[in-house]
Amino acid sequence: MPRIALYPGSFDPPTNGHVAILRAALSVCDHLVIGVGTHAAKTPQLSADDRVRMLAEIAAPLANAARTTFEVRMFDTLVVTFAWDIGATLIVRGLRDGADLDYEMQMAGMNAEIAPGVQTVFLPALPETRHITATLVRQIAAMGGDVAPFVPPQVAAFMAGDRQRKPRA
Ligand code: ADP
Repeated sequence: MPRIALYPGSFDPPTNGHVAILRAALSVCDHLVIGVGTHAAKTPQLSADDRVRMLAEIAAPLANAARTTFEVRMFDTLVVTFAWDIGATLIVRGLRDGADLDYEMQMAGMNAEIAPGVQTVFLPALPETRHITATLVRQIAAMGGDVAPFVPPQVAAFMAGDRQRKPRA
């Protein structure tokens, strides 16, 4: 049976930190579903459609190299519910530091009670990208800064274009 993994997140925007985890996640499963959370409580900077499109572009060459299939899907339910719906037995999460660990352990523990058949897998951040957070990337972009060092080229180009389309007040 193919091993299906779910890599869920907001990916607002996709960063080089996400890419490192994505690459590693592709090596631990046969099919990876990248789940773009569209929970109504969060107001994203990038539309869900844009995030899905960019993640598909970013993941395609990585999946090809890993010989793993993938798809990018939006979801607005609990992560475990979505994992269950798509037949995933693994939920992949990246760990940057102790703060991530504390939060992720709580989530993994509660998810394990809700859906015992779904296992959370933690993948370590790479030293060169572990400092990157999507929140800070959004703040830098909002203040007119250059986010190119922190995100894949297509994301940097898109966010630069977005800034020109929406001049700051
Ligand atoms: P969420 O809102 O679910 O935390 P994010 O898009 O912020 O969504 O993160 C998705 C996943 O990617 C999480 O598991 C997070 O720990 C991981 N992640 C984010 N940034 C990095 C990074 N720089 N290095 C490693 N993992 C990361």
